[in-house]
This record gives sequence, structure tokens and C-alpha cells, in this order.
Amino acid sequence: MVLEAEKKGKKKTIYTPDMATITEISDLTPTEKQFTIQIDDQETREAFRFQPGQFVELTVFGLGEAPFSIPSSPNNRESFELCVRDIGNVSNALHKMAPGSKVGIRGPYGNGYFPHEKMKGNNVVIIAGGIGMAPVRSLLKYILEDRQSYKDFSLIYGCVDPANILYKDEMQQLKQRDDIEIKMTVDNPDADWKEAVGVCTNLIGDLKYSPEDTFIVVCGPPIMYKFVILELDDRSYKPENIFLSLERRMECGVGKCNHCHIGNKLVCVDGPVFSLWEIRNLKEAI
Ligand SMILES: Cc1cc2nc3c(=O)[nH]c(=O)nc-3n(C[C@H](O)[C@H](O)[C@H](O)COP(=O)(O)OP(=O)(O)OC[C@H]3O[C@@H](n4cnc5c(N)ncnc54)[C@H](O)[C@@H]3O)c2cc1C
Repeated sequence: MVLEAEKKGKKKTIYTPDMATITEISDLTPTEKQFTIQIDDQETREAFRFQPGQFVELTVFGLGEAPFSIPSSPNNRESFELCVRDIGNVSNALHKMAPGSKVGIRGPYGNGYFPHEKMKGNNVVIIAGGIGMAPVRSLLKYILEDRQSYKDFSLIYGCVDPANILYKDEMQQLKQRDDIEIKMTVDNPDADWKEAVGVCTNLIGDLKYSPEDTFIVVCGPPIMYKFVILELDDRSYKPENIFLSLERRMECGVGKCNHCHIGNKLVCVDGPVFSLWEIRNLKEAI
């Protein structure tokens, strides 16, 4: 498939997507699917490098675009994964596609990503709520692939109920490892649930890491940020070492349309990952 613009010999612009193929689709929950995507052109594919926390704009041709975080490891250069909740026009159309379907990809975007280099030699705690697992999974995988460069590593993951847990099998496998501590909690347990019950802020008190050498990454629904930050403040974790991935209604993804501004910041180009220190005083950021 060749884009109309290419057929007519038109020059590629920042809005021109690259053609890509969905190579695999798997069900994660009743509402989320994982899509494995490969950029068609080999040269473009090799040049596509992303950092944990960045996102792409995905086009469903004839329908529209939407931004999605990349939950796979940046070390996988052949393809990348997207975890998509079926919520509206683009995501709904994606959920109806089959392997082999063509989509458009722009990106990767976002100058604010999880600073994995700065985190080296320190403890890292990831706190994720619901679909907030998608942006942080890339960092999770990246750290596990270079585990010796970091000190202790913990993941706190909270969901409304067990059916909403993303990457369930992967979580069970991680629990077998002794180099990462996994704590999970749900609001509404079922009869088989053997872990914590309640919001994920309840588990922050169990962390034994000192604020001096600990980085904390947070991603989840807006309400979660407020309470997580209160807990982290109480324990004197440093705002410059706390990183949050923010989500705002976004159009262009490249800093032109201003749809995603929060005060003087644009989530698409200044974020989507910000340190708490950067956004603490920004009205409506949290
Ligand atoms: C940086 C970034 C990363 C994202 N990563 C992911 C991801 O990994 N997986 C995922 O499933 N989604 C992700 N999203 C959200 C995703 O882009 C939206 O759900 C997207 O708009 C879906 O497009 P749609 O056409 O299916 O929905 P639409 O038809 O545009 O919208 C459907 C409904 O959802 C509401 N809505 C859509 N987006 C938002 C939003 N951002 N905030 C509040 N309400 C909204 C609309 O108002 C409408 O009611 C991300 C968003 C951003 C900005």
C-alpha cells in the first residue's frame, strides 16, 4: 500500500505517517488488546528508536489518529507493541482489525521520557494504576534487561478488579524473580484474589527505600496522582526524582496545535513524562 501523497510525489511532512503492519493481536483484558506493529520500510524501521515513556500517533486510514504509549522494550528494534483500550473511534476500529492490517505511524514523540540513565545506581519504584501500566511497562522491561545497573526495584500495580489487570501472565512470571518486588492490589477482589485489597497508595507505606537514592515513576488515572503524591511527600521522596506520565486530549503530537497545553507546557513535546518538580506549581497539571 502506498500513501496517496507518495504516489503524487509529494514531499513527506511532519504529519505524514509511515506505513506499518499489525503483525500480532492479543487480548489482554475484556477492554484492552495488545497490537504488535512493524514499520514496513526497513530503513525507517531501523531508524525508529524510542525511549521508555514516549508515544506514537497511530492512524486508522480514513478515520483518524490517536496517541498511544509504547509499552514494549526499546531494545526490540524489529517491532513494537501498543496496548489499546477500546474507548472511541480510532481504538474501536483498531480492535476490529486482524493481523496483516495496515496502519500509519508517526513518531516516536515526547521529549519527556523516563530518565533511565539518571536512575542507574539507584532504587526504582514504579507505581501504576489500571491502563497506566502501558507507558511504564517499557521502563520495567528496559530495567529488567539491564538489572545490574540499578539497585532495588519494586512495582506497585493497582486495578479496579482482577479482570482489569494487564499482562497478568507476565506479572505472575515476574513474581518468581528475586530481583524485583511486585505488589498488586485491587478494589474489588474476587474469590481467587490472594493479594492486597484497596487503592495502591496503601502499599506505599511498605516501601523501605531512602529518599536519597530512590526514583519513583507514577502513571494512572488523574485521581491516583493526588493521593500518591501526598504519600510520597509524607515520606520525603524528592520531587525531582518523581516522574509522572500525563495524558491530555492531544491532536498533532508535535507541538503545533496547542490542544494538550497545561499552563506553559505542552504534554506532547515537553512531556508526556514530567518530574513532579517541573509540574508541581502548574495549575491543573495534577
Ligand atoms: C501521550 C498519550 C498516551 C496515550 N497512551 C495510551 C495507551 O497506551 N493506550 C490507550 O488505550 N490509550 C492511550 N491514550 C489515550 C488515547 O489516545 C485516547 O483514548 C484516544 O483518544 C482514543 O482515541 P479514540 O479515537 O478511540 O477515542 P475518541 O473517539 O477520540 O474518544 C472516545 C471518548 O474518550 C474520550 N477521550 C478520548 N481521549 C481522551 C483523553 N486523553 N482524556 C480524556 N478523555 C478522552 C473522548 O472525549 C470520548 O468521550 C494516550 C493518550 C495520550 C495523550
